[in-house]
Amino acid sequence: MTEDNATKQVNRLSLNWVFTVSLLCIFLVFLFVSGLAYYRLVSVNQILENIAQNETPKILLFDKISTEATSLVFYTEQLAQAKNPPSLRIAQSAATSQLNSVGALIGRGDFPETVLVEFSAINAEIMELIQLVKDKINIESEVQQTEQSMYASFSDFLSESITSDSSNVDLKKTEWGVSFSNLIALSSQVMNTNRIHEINRTKELIANKFEILNSELAKKLPADKKPLANALSRLFKLYVLSGKGLIAQRIMQLRVDGRTRGRGEFTKKLVSDFSRSVGFQTQQLNGQIIRETERTNEFVSQQIHVVGLSTLLALLLLAVIGLILRIRVIERLTLLNQLVLGHLDVDKNEIKLQGNDEITDIAHTFKRFTRTIEQQKQALSVLAMSDGLTGIANRRAFDEELDRQITVAKRLHHPLSVLLIDIDFFKLYNDKYGHIQGDEALKSVAKVLKESLNRNIDFVARYGGEEFVCILPNTDINGAIQVAKRFGTAIANLQIEHKYSDAAPYITVSSGSATLQASELNLHSHADVLVKADKALYQAKEAGRNQARAYSE
Ligand code: GH3
Ligand code: MG
Ligand code: MG
Repeated sequence: MTEDNATKQVNRLSLNWVFTVSLLCIFLVFLFVSGLAYYRLVSVNQILENIAQNETPKILLFDKISTEATSLVFYTEQLAQAKNPPSLRIAQSAATSQLNSVGALIGRGDFPETVLVEFSAINAEIMELIQLVKDKINIESEVQQTEQSMYASFSDFLSESITSDSSNVDLKKTEWGVSFSNLIALSSQVMNTNRIHEINRTKELIANKFEILNSELAKKLPADKKPLANALSRLFKLYVLSGKGLIAQRIMQLRVDGRTRGRGEFTKKLVSDFSRSVGFQTQQLNGQIIRETERTNEFVSQQIHVVGLSTLLALLLLAVIGLILRIRVIERLTLLNQLVLGHLDVDKNEIKLQGNDEITDIAHTFKRFTRTIEQQKQALSVLAMSDGLTGIANRRAFDEELDRQITVAKRLHHPLSVLLIDIDFFKLYNDKYGHIQGDEALKSVAKVLKESLNRNIDFVARYGGEEFVCILPNTDINGAIQVAKRFGTAIANLQIEHKYSDAAPYITVSSGSATLQASELNLHSHADVLVKADKALYQAKEAGRNQARAYSE
């Protein structure tokens, strides 16, 4: 009990709890590790998928658009420089097909609004440029036609002498004629300059000279030359000075030319900017992908660290759990086994099981079990050695005790006496008073005999039936007779009624004693002394019962 209490004071650490917590820990750690690994892998996969499915094709597309836009710059230049309808047609077809292909590429991707706006501006500009180039070519051909018509009209005047009239004066050689020739020459200068202000200056000069020609110089002409001079002067005004004349057309041509060049340059710049902007965005995307890839790398290395650490932790945990299992279960089960093997000497060996759990419980239960068995064994041996009816020692116990006392007497050189005590006429008592009362009488006799022993080492037993036997160590014949008499008196004093006894009206006993002297011990055995005591008892019976007799040779 004290041991149980001591164990209870140790805090209880149930194995059930240890196993449940350990398994739960392992489960949680593995759940954490695999969940984390899964989450990290999914993240990395998403990033890589995004790069492969969205970013990389986008970069390729941007790159292609940038290249195509660069070609468009060239075609725009070609367009702006087209000099005649065939070259315009070729440049226009190349530029529009290039525009279409860039437009198709842009249509494939999810581009920012600015790209779309820029592209539609380029589209509109190129269309306008085409129109301007067309205008420029038209005006150019108009100017050429006017110039040719003008020269054709004045060719007669310039190549031939006009002397057919009555005055016989050559118009070409007149002051008017020279001035007119100068005016034509001046007019041709308009075609040689590309500067509008110079043309305007020339126009003013021509206008002044034309004024003089028509007023002062015309007056000096002979009358017959005047109609021709007037006609030439009108033609000149029409071809050179009028709103549809050479000068006006030339100015218009230079303006359209300038506008075409300007628009061409502007469109070229717009396309170049567009190409550069797309290229820039491609670079930005590239940078973004590089950053994302670096982030993915970081993710992966983080993942490797975390998963590695978690795995290490899980392994450590497993090692700790293994150690706990070894210390708390396997080693203690081995101890328990040793304890069970040595269970007969439990208290002597006293193997201590530390802790307070199910194994300790089993150990304590087993200790209690073996203790109970020990107690039962002792109880059984007591039962085996005692008489069931009277409770005093039985014949087996007597036999063992006699052997032991013979040995002791031999060693100590003491005498040893044995008494056989028999109840007188007990058959009659049983027959007349009944077995139950007979049993009661036997119990009373046994009790009195036991109580009548003075020394601890004296021993009394039921020998069988109504016979008792007593061992008196270190007692000589006189002592034995004394004890026998004391027994007789004590039983008589019980005054158990026995009307049918011939010895007395109450229960009496007869006894026979035998004494072995120290010198005789080696010669006589256990059986010898009993035979002698029995002989003495027989004599007591023969002599009338209710008396004690000692054996003598
Ligand atoms: P004696 O004076 O010569 O000894 O005669 P006795 O009748 O006592 O001797 P006997 O041997 O003829 O009878 C012994 C009787 O003891 C027989 C039996 O009735 C009785 N007896 C023996 N054992 C028991 C027992 O355990 N209980 C009871 N009630 N009687 C017993
Ligand atoms: Mg008898
Ligand atoms: Mg008898």
